[in-house]
Amino acid sequence: MRTKIVAGNWKMNKTLPEAIQLINDLKSMVKPDKSVEVIIAPSYVNLPKAVELLNDFPIKVSAQNMHFADHGAYTGEVSADMLKAIGVETVILGHSERRAYFNETDDILQNKAHKAYEKQMTNIFCVGEQLEDRQAGKHFDVVKNQLSKALFALPLQAYKKIIIAYEPVWAIGTGETATPSQAQEMHHFIRESLAKKYGRELASHVRILYGGSVKPANAAEIFAQPDVDGGLIGGASLNAKDFNAIIEAAKS
Ligand code: PEP
Repeated sequence: MRTKIVAGNWKMNKTLPEAIQLINDLKSMVKPDKSVEVIIAPSYVNLPKAVELLNDFPIKVSAQNMHFADHGAYTGEVSADMLKAIGVETVILGHSERRAYFNETDDILQNKAHKAYEKQMTNIFCVGEQLEDRQAGKHFDVVKNQLSKALFALPLQAYKKIIIAYEPVWAIGTGETATPSQAQEMHHFIRESLAKKYGRELASHVRILYGGSVKPANAAEIFAQPDVDGGLIGGASLNAKDFNAIIEAAKS
């Protein structure tokens, strides 16, 4: 049995007072349950406060990115050790916005994934095809390539702390959602790819989240798919009521 995960990626939203408000709203609404792990990923500047406020509540705090180097002349960047020093043990890597707007290549992501493993951080690793890849029938190849280039050099034990998020780029922030069967088909493909590379036992334990316009109205149907282990939520994670409704939809 894989415990479901609902993770909220706040992206570049919420000032510190707004972040505090949202976290306090979540603390008053979310009913913790063993069947769902909840994670939020505020921006860097709001991470210390989020960790402090959630010290007594079972919502984990994640960063949205990190650099692969330990330290040095990388103006504007943040390292794994810096995150860990403030109590952040989880990081989202390879989000399509990082790939598209900040030129994160598979090589860069391989280094970041290695760093997360070396530092024993939980890595929510995002993969997903563009609309034209899907229209050309190349979506499986694209996702397989992203996985093999960035993750498949890692040893089996690294997967204790890897969560994969399948996020078709055409469904992110667009209101367009993959159908439950499109999501299931790709999640099954990802699990089979893991099984071929690392064996069925490992593949059966890795959590694979779906991301792309998940809302309270469509969450339950998507999460009910056998290979979907929860969601990475963008827009709807910025509203406590909606995010809580999505968490409720993941409970079994
Ligand atoms: C995301 O950016 O990870 C995401 C899934 O966004 P949205 O839910 O807004 O489509």
